[in-house]
Amino acid sequence: MIRVQDLQKAYGNVQALRGVSFDIAQGEIVGLLGPNGAGKTTIIKTITGFLQPDAGVVEVDGIDVMQDPRGVQARIGYLPENAPLYPELTVQATLQLAADLREIPEDAQLEKISRAVYAVGLEKHLTRPIGTLSKGFRQRVGLAQAILHQPPLLILDEPTVGLDPRQIVEIRGLIKSLAGQSTVLFSTHILPEVEALCDRVIILMNGEIRANARLDELAATGNAVVVLGERP
Ligand code: ATP
Repeated sequence: MIRVQDLQKAYGNVQALRGVSFDIAQGEIVGLLGPNGAGKTTIIKTITGFLQPDAGVVEVDGIDVMQDPRGVQARIGYLPENAPLYPELTVQATLQLAADLREIPEDAQLEKISRAVYAVGLEKHLTRPIGTLSKGFRQRVGLAQAILHQPPLLILDEPTVGLDPRQIVEIRGLIKSLAGQSTVLFSTHILPEVEALCDRVIILMNGEIRANARLDELAATGNAVVVLGERP
């Protein structure tokens, strides 16, 4: 589903990615784990076609993102870190706007919105303005936007950052249930998040991959903790 080959990216003299390569197969749920500044967002923005790498190849579902960014974006549901939402819009209006931006035909919008709303448990909140929702519920709206067009791949950038412990559990539960329908790549700096959700983890440090392994393999070597230092 994703092929990343020798990705390199610098911002001025900051080398954010130093030759990153990995593959993600259809149906996997993979955690991209690393501390602040490791390069997680840079990888995600490159896969989603919002950022041009200096070198390397990214393919999603066999499509080269540099050649056909819109084709790739049609296959991805993307939840950015701190997804921008208009506080005065209701949940319903927000999702309608997202459906328009996705160019979902009008006669299909109602069904797609209902499906997404149900999948993230927002049925009772459709008429509420975004500004009255808790951060956990706003994140549900972000997830609903991401899955509106039923993409085969979900990419979530630090989906639980800034949430309280109860909201974290709820959002993790939702990610797990969404993973039943899509391949999922999400970034995090929290090891237990990976342990709660993933088949496989890619550990990124300073723009380089330090480990790419199934969780049981890592646990056997204690590698994740060694790489990341102290357990958070
Ligand atoms: P975080 O968890 O803080 O978002 P991250 O792992 O997602 O971190 P990136 O945001 O990809 O890391 O950043 C990788 C490196 O590139 C960091 O050193 C960061 O300061 C730098 N960087 C990112 N965006 C820019 C930019 N627009 N201009 C300059 N440097 C940047």
